[in-house]
Amino acid sequence: MLMQEERELIVEYGKKLSASGLCPGTSGNISIYNAEKKLMAISPSGIDYFETKPEDVVVTDLEANIVDGNRKPSSEWALHTIFYKNKPEARAVVHTHSVYCTTFAVLGQPIRAVHYVIGDANTDTVPCAPYCTFGTVELAEKAIKVCGDSNAVLLANHGIVTCGKDIRSAFSLANNLEYVAKLQYQAMCIGKPNILNHEQMEKVLEKFKGYGQPDSSRTGY
Ligand code: 13P
Ligand code: ZN
Repeated sequence: MLMQEERELIVEYGKKLSASGLCPGTSGNISIYNAEKKLMAISPSGIDYFETKPEDVVVTDLEANIVDGNRKPSSEWALHTIFYKNKPEARAVVHTHSVYCTTFAVLGQPIRAVHYVIGDANTDTVPCAPYCTFGTVELAEKAIKVCGDSNAVLLANHGIVTCGKDIRSAFSLANNLEYVAKLQYQAMCIGKPNILNHEQMEKVLEKFKGYGQPDSSRTGY
């Protein structure tokens, strides 16, 4: 099977996403990009994460031509391919409708540096792209434009997209940002959160480069 390893990872991480509560129902989607082959393995549209099998995962090129697989690819294929086209380091993209991130997306407000772990997104603010209908090229274009150097962007009234150097780090970033968004929401319920300033976050971003074990291929925070 073409891209067997990537397809198995899509199945494995689809279950993790669903079990973590980040993707209610069949919402959200994930992909992995193989830069050597210039092909993407992407979750199929509308299939339960726990029922998805490696052969259901669709392999496409970056122009969304299906290269292998009998299923319809995720309706957000353009959202995934635009990240690979514009972010040379990206090897995986995760899109979720996680509740706390989406709460800020509903308000059209960014996720702020209420906790240093936001630095996992390589930024101190996760911006929010304007609303567009799901599954459109327009949504993908707005998302990548607003995303800038960040590894994540909110989609107004919809959800969030994260990317990473592999599926583990893109998934871990989706989890970390849900944690930060939850803190931000809770802090706003009972007061006015203190936001870490640019200088404080610069130090965090610098320290993240050396976080973990020196010999490990650390992915994500
Ligand atoms: P798919 O099931 O087609 O991937 O769509 C889910 C989704 O989140 C659309 O934005
Ligand atoms: Zn969605």
